[in-house]
Amino acid sequence: MEDKKIHKMLIIGSGPAGLAGALYASRANLEPVIFTGMQLGGQVSTTHIVENYPGFPEGIGGPELVEAFQKQAERFGTRVEFDQVTDIDFSQRPFKVTTYSGEYYAETLLLSTGANPRHLEIPGEVEFTGRGVSYCATCDGHFFQEKNVIVVGGGDSALEEGLFLTRFAKTVTIVHRRDELRAGKLLQERAFNNPKVSFIWDSALTEIVGEGIVQSVKVKNLKTGEENEMPTEGVFIFIGHIPNTELYIGKLEMDDQGYVVVDKYMQTSIPGVYAAGEVADSHFRQVITSAGMGAAAAMQAIHYLENQIK
Ligand code: NAP
Repeated sequence: MEDKKIHKMLIIGSGPAGLAGALYASRANLEPVIFTGMQLGGQVSTTHIVENYPGFPEGIGGPELVEAFQKQAERFGTRVEFDQVTDIDFSQRPFKVTTYSGEYYAETLLLSTGANPRHLEIPGEVEFTGRGVSYCATCDGHFFQEKNVIVVGGGDSALEEGLFLTRFAKTVTIVHRRDELRAGKLLQERAFNNPKVSFIWDSALTEIVGEGIVQSVKVKNLKTGEENEMPTEGVFIFIGHIPNTELYIGKLEMDDQGYVVVDKYMQTSIPGVYAAGEVADSHFRQVITSAGMGAAAAMQAIHYLENQIK
């Protein structure tokens, strides 16, 4: 299908940045089309509960928050397309966006493709993904009722997801490569006070072992070099993220970590192309900061289009 219409704005990626951008753009009558990618809502849709998005004193479920974002954007004229973008031609104007189902043209683009979980890249990780290895406690936690699971990482995600897993698992052992956590103090306190949670410090997984499903992990103490094999039924990996930028490589300016470079107006190295959320932010990575970036990008795109008309 070719959508010959020249859209005012196409939004690529449907996490908080994309959906907030869609809300602002649609309220300015830009009639944006947002391509959801593989997962409407992005990472937040796999978050059990969001406790730090203002307006929800008791917290709100990730999927419910995404649904509310979507409804609010649609109410003002956003079109949500359950489609995946495969190519973007930034060299022509209007910009050309190719998806699985067709071609679209737009005067402005908002890139909000987010980030994906980083992998450990050790033997067994790929083989046992979905068979005991997981990157999402909300998605897979219920498979581990009364099981012993390992969590890898020392940041907010590792602790938050590890604590969530204590609802199901018998024990949660957090393996961290240092002897100090990166996570915030509140989460640290909760983890230290939870009787199901224990820590293995200064250590890294070197292999995930099993037959068909995960049965054990090899854990190496990075200070002594000693390696032990530890029985476990699940391995949850939360060691940070990698931005989803395959579509932009060689086309837009990126930093040395691979994040899209934006100025304070969320503009990328190409005028009329904006980026928001985790694809352009390795630092804050919160629902509220991503949504704020999306709103700012849309406001700037509105301004850009107004200036084009003059
Ligand atoms: P992160 O803060 O980057 O932490 C990643 C953790 O994984 C670190 O402890 C790091 O160890 C470890 N790590 C990295 N690469 C590793 C490797 N190859 N092998 C073993 N360990 C490795 O990532 P995150 O926890 O996903 O959090 C990302 C951002 O989202 C942060 O800004 C965080 O505050 C935010 N976040 C906030 C909340 C919340 O506020 N409730 C919840 C989730 C995430 P080192 O510490 O040694 O570097």
